[in-house]
Amino acid sequence: MEKTFIMVKPDGVQRGLVGEIVARFEKKGYQLVGAKLMHVSRDLAEAHYAEHKERPFFGELVDFITSSPVFAMVWAGEGVIGTARHMMGKTNPKEADLGTIRGDFGVSVGMNIVHGSDSAESAERELSLWFKEEEVT
Ligand code: ATP
Ligand code: MG
Repeated sequence: MEKTFIMVKPDGVQRGLVGEIVARFEKKGYQLVGAKLMHVSRDLAEAHYAEHKERPFFGELVDFITSSPVFAMVWAGEGVIGTARHMMGKTNPKEADLGTIRGDFGVSVGMNIVHGSDSAESAERELSLWFKEEEVT
């Protein structure tokens, strides 16, 4: 079954949005097959966001994601990678449609509540980075 990596970022956890976000994916029909609340190390953050290494906001991004716990999840289901991205909305919450997670709850591009793998290749890479095999049912 197709799987993707979804993470509630520090702002989402602090604002008490974990339940709301889990509920949206459950109600859509996807299955939660792995989850953990964790403090992200600098190494993991830098590896996760390696594609943005040269961008001017990279340092801020790593600082933010390591600043307080995140809720890391593995979701499974047909077409879950693409559909989860639709459910999250555009990267910049100001441009994200209402009805999406970022559109409903976010304000700034740095604090945009949630992360989701953007392709099958990213999902495979990120799942192996964040989860051990025995942590996924
Ligand atoms: P994510 O990878 O977190 O799911 P995304 O795939 O929608 O988000 P990316 O282009 O991969 O967007 O950017 C990764 C993250 O970097 C964004 O979620 C956002 O928090 C941050 N980011 C992207 N662009 C900017 C920017 N111009 N200024 C500040 N932060 C940014
Ligand atoms: Mg991305």
